[in-house]
Amino acid sequence: MKPTHIEHIGIAVENLEDAIKFYENVFGLECYKIEEVADQKVKTAFFMVGQTKIELLESTSPDGPIARSIEKKGPGIHHIAFAVNGLQKSLDHAAEKGVQLIDKQPRKGAEGLNIAFLHPKSTYGVLTELCEHPKD
Ligand code: ZN
Repeated sequence: MKPTHIEHIGIAVENLEDAIKFYENVFGLECYKIEEVADQKVKTAFFMVGQTKIELLESTSPDGPIARSIEKKGPGIHHIAFAVNGLQKSLDHAAEKGVQLIDKQPRKGAEGLNIAFLHPKSTYGVLTELCEHPKD
């Protein structure tokens, strides 16, 4: 596995609207998309910074993963996402190296990407996402 770049950085926020205004007003970035990912109980807002995105994440339910993360650790950086070529192969490789996988197989994430998470216990405390554009 060799990530090609940091695809995005996921940031957990309590109020998406406020956070969008902050990124627009302070950094002058433009929110180009808001998307709800129902099975993750999350609403996301995207900003492009060079070839890397900032993905703001607001929970749509008190029992969603983002709500639980904010409860435990407060708002802030939630995960880092590496773009890889060959997501399944990369997951298999990580598993072979003894990394604990949250997703053994890719699933659908925001922006139409195929995604999978590695467990932070195996990645020095950083929830790490691998993602790949579906082949078209
Ligand atoms: Zn992500």
